[in-house]
Formats: sequence, structure tokens, C-alpha cells
Amino acid sequence: MARRKKIYEGKAKILYEGPEPGTIVQYFKDDATAFNAEKKDVIDGKGVLNNRLSEYFMNGLNQIGVPTHFIRRLNMREQLVRNCEIVPLEVIVRNFAAGTMSKRLGIAEGTQLPRPIVEYCYKDDALGDPLVTEEHIAAFGWASQQDMEDILSLALRVNDFMSGVMLAVGIRLVDFKIEIGRVYEGDFQRLIIADEISPDSCRLWDIETGQKLDKDVFRRDLGSLTDAYSEVARRLGVLPKSNVSKPTLIN
Ligand code: 5GP
Repeated sequence: MARRKKIYEGKAKILYEGPEPGTIVQYFKDDATAFNAEKKDVIDGKGVLNNRLSEYFMNGLNQIGVPTHFIRRLNMREQLVRNCEIVPLEVIVRNFAAGTMSKRLGIAEGTQLPRPIVEYCYKDDALGDPLVTEEHIAAFGWASQQDMEDILSLALRVNDFMSGVMLAVGIRLVDFKIEIGRVYEGDFQRLIIADEISPDSCRLWDIETGQKLDKDVFRRDLGSLTDAYSEVARRLGVLPKSNVSKPTLIN
């Protein structure tokens, strides 16, 4: 069998050329990294969980009319997605102060924000994804004014959807990061949600206990990351019953 063409290997995923034009296969690795890859580990089963969870969230978004790159899951670790041009921004939405916002502004972690706050970081690992303003984005041509309006509206819709889904299973969506892709349809371009939405890119706290169920468990050495992600998957009913405590690792 011919080997597939690898397009890109990132910290948590590998992208391969897809079976049809305009498609890509997104493979979820077990690698976990934090602090711009200064901290690294391989966490058994993380890729399987994130593949399932990202499928769940992207499917839900597609169903409520928020366009995403997700087409279908292929197997335990791979999903077929639309090929798109990634806008070089990390779009962060925060409902409660945590992480870099708490550090930067001296606001205690867990403080509810007066309204969701959207931030933009320039996607550049070598620079550590620095925070940028809309002035930088416009001046350097990373996105147009119209793109920025669309991105803000997409980000807030994702926030409402994700907050509701999580609230229903007793989890607080503290903040999250999304990436935006550009696709061309005839003469028109459209912005869609790309990359992944998973506990790797969200802060998720149990509403009752405050227990962290996201990548901070790894960043801050708070216990088993697979247990935390499995708990999110279990509450959402994402994993088949037999796989509730341990995801079956096939490939
Ligand atoms: P913070 O700016 O507080 O570190 O992160 C805010 C939110 O965005 C958190 O949910 C965090 O997981 C997510 N986030 C920020 N940068 C990245 C990144 O480079 N990769 C991933 N997976 N998530 C990120």
C-alpha cells in the first residue's frame, strides 16, 4: 500500500493528505506538551479521547450552523477534515479569569468576568504565541476587518454552545482557544472553525468541586490526564460504555 503523504506534524497532531481533493486526515497523537514544549510527555490514550471529543463538539457546532472543518471520524485516532488556510491567530475566549490573564492582570483565578472577553495571539511557536491587538492584525494583514467581525461572532457562538454543553454535565467552561480556517467556495471565502476543540485547548472545571478536567492537570502536575479527559467524555456520553474507564487503543 502506498504511504500517505505527511503534510505537517505539530505538537499534538499529524496532518496527512486526504483521500479526496480539499480534504486532510488529522491524526491525534498521545504527545502532551506545555509551556511552548518545555514540558513534554506521552499520555496513553490522550489522542483517542481528543479525537472523540473534538468530533463531538465540532459535530454539534455544524448542527447548529457554526461551520467547522470536521467531515467525519475515520477511526480511533483519525478524522477527515476540510483543508483550509489557517488564519495565523489563536482566538481565546474567557468567561472566568485563569492562566495568563490572571497573571497579566492580577485577577484571582476563578473570578467571573463581567462578560466574555476575546483575545488574539499571533500563532508563532518561536515567539511563544504573543498576545496581539486588532491593530497588529490589521496592520500586518493577518485578517481583514470583515474577517475580524466574522471571527468575533464565530468565537462567541462557540462559547455559547460549549458553555451550554458543559453546564449540562456539571462542568464550567472557564476559557478556550480556537483556530480559524479560510476556505474558498467559488469566488467567495468563508471562515470556519478548524484545528480541534478538546480538553487540550479548554479550561474545564467541575462546577461543584472546582476539580480541573483539562490540560492544566498536565501543566500543573495535578494527577492523571487520561482520567480527567475520560471523565469529560464519560459525562458527555462520548465514549462507548465498555470504554468508559479506559479507551481501547487500537492504533
Ligand atoms: P492561557 O492564555 O491562559 O494560557 O490560555 C487560555 C486558554 O487557551 C486555555 O484554555 C488554554 O488551554 C488555551 N490555549 C492557549 N494557548 C494554547 C496553545 O498554544 N495550545 C492549546 N492547545 N491551547 C492553548
